[in-house]
Amino acid sequence: MQVRSGIAVSPGVVVGQALVLGSENFRIPKKFVVRDAVEAEIIRFRTALDHVCTDIEENEVLVADKMGERYAAIFSAHLQMARDPKIVGEVESLIKESKYSPEYAVSRTLRGFAEQMQNLGDQYLAERALDIFDLEKRLLRELLGESREELTNLTQPVIILAHDLTPGETATLDPKYVLGFATEVGGHTSHTAILAGALEIPAVVGLGRCLAGVSGGETVILDGDHGQVVIDPDAPTFQRVKDSQARNLRVSERLESLDNVVSATQDGQRVHIYGNIEFPEEVEHCSKRGADGVGLYRTEFLYLGGNREPSEEDHFEAYCKVLKACGDLPVVIRTLDIGADKVPARIRDRFADSQNPMLGLRSIRLSLQSTPLFKVQLRAVLRAAVHGNVRVMFPLVSSLLEFRQARMILMDVMEDLEDEGIEFQRDLPIGMMMEVPSAVMLAEEFAREVDFFSIGTNDLIQYTLACDRSDPSVAHLYRSGDPSILRMIQMVLKAADKHGKPVTVCGQMSSDPRFIPLLLGLGLRNLSATPHSIPRLKEVVRNISIPEAKRIAAHACTLDLARDVEHYLLGELGRICPDLVV
Ligand code: PEP
Ligand code: MG
Repeated sequence: MQVRSGIAVSPGVVVGQALVLGSENFRIPKKFVVRDAVEAEIIRFRTALDHVCTDIEENEVLVADKMGERYAAIFSAHLQMARDPKIVGEVESLIKESKYSPEYAVSRTLRGFAEQMQNLGDQYLAERALDIFDLEKRLLRELLGESREELTNLTQPVIILAHDLTPGETATLDPKYVLGFATEVGGHTSHTAILAGALEIPAVVGLGRCLAGVSGGETVILDGDHGQVVIDPDAPTFQRVKDSQARNLRVSERLESLDNVVSATQDGQRVHIYGNIEFPEEVEHCSKRGADGVGLYRTEFLYLGGNREPSEEDHFEAYCKVLKACGDLPVVIRTLDIGADKVPARIRDRFADSQNPMLGLRSIRLSLQSTPLFKVQLRAVLRAAVHGNVRVMFPLVSSLLEFRQARMILMDVMEDLEDEGIEFQRDLPIGMMMEVPSAVMLAEEFAREVDFFSIGTNDLIQYTLACDRSDPSVAHLYRSGDPSILRMIQMVLKAADKHGKPVTVCGQMSSDPRFIPLLLGLGLRNLSATPHSIPRLKEVVRNISIPEAKRIAAHACTLDLARDVEHYLLGELGRICPDLVV
């Protein structure tokens, strides 16, 4: 049994068969060959190996010509490895003796060698393991050829283990077949993590390099509550999982009864809980849980699937679908937040030179530089707004000028629509995300100009603590409970209050029941969260009074370490709603 720990990003405990995605996210299922086909399969492997060796030789000559022998030596090392009788012998023996398919045998053998190298405790040798992965990639590419299976074509339930999944890939996962997934990279609020929550697929990210020795087909327990992945579990571990699944089911069933109950504190203070969505289909997840509307619609996901630029009609249709499902309830449409880890494949070149995409051309910055693209979306938002209760929100605003420019473009679009005689909604609230420290520092000035704020704690934490939200190596520093974050929330609330502007928190912090007493105590009455977390949030709201929340917030604000704040809040949650502490 092997136990790997990472970051829990989407709850639920599942058991299933591992499907390991290779470095190019090839699927490597554990397939067997029939006895009669063994010889043919060995020949197929040898042919693939010959092609790979010829390829490497050609690379070697090319590089020697262009860059000199020194660089070409990299390829002679690859060639040596590809021809190593030990490696070749082991692959062939797995095909012959264990009747494994050549793809599975290659992957299993090479990953075994790579793992041994990584474990020798020598940095140089550990890095050579990358050469082995490169060889694996070449061989699999050759073997799988056109028949490479796509993640979208799964036919059996699996738990996906991968080095990384992009938000685009994650978006295409089918929850019917993907029981859960775990990745070596990723952080608490990476967009892949957020999507896992949206799709309600249990997930663990940030496992660190650990999949070299796993080749697929193993039984895996994925614990999205505690951030653990167990490979080949033993009997007592299985039992623990069964208990924990039964307990989760009991709590979820009990919480279902809250779906149609209004969310108000014990002393009758109404707290609006909205849903965060990425796709129009998710609006059903919100309605089912009795959400008060959509507090954050991440429209950029319209760009991440598909291979063409969405048209104005594509936008319009998607928005109308959400509005229709919401009736009179508010829907906050956030304009495009493309960039950083959300880059559509077809425009990836435009971002290729960015050394630091989280600080680069992202979000409103991109929209302001690409006015035609921005206007297509704004036209659709204004037209769709006729059919519902729409609020428009600009992301990643870092200066007043940006907000004014974005609003000006919105006004221009209104004039265009008017000139063209197209029906649209002129009076809709215009707000902004509060997710950049510079905006928080100028909250007073912004509060005079905006209609509402929505605090995006995912980015606010990242930019305040200088801590990449997707990087597992700094995940321990990425803390919602950091006193600086509490103080920033207070600053936004104070400025908004002075100018009578409403505030919502829509970052992942508001999907975490631990932080609800704190947020209520600080003065928040609007939360926007991952739909599946809504029942838990309601449970906290209904079990606390505002004076009690104020007392908790006041104490949390006296603590000067994130660790102490989070520990204290967990203790309070355990007291208020013991069932919710897993
Ligand atoms: C945030 O930053 O908190 C937020 C809600 O936006 P996103 O996660 O899409 O960056
Ligand atoms: Mg953000």
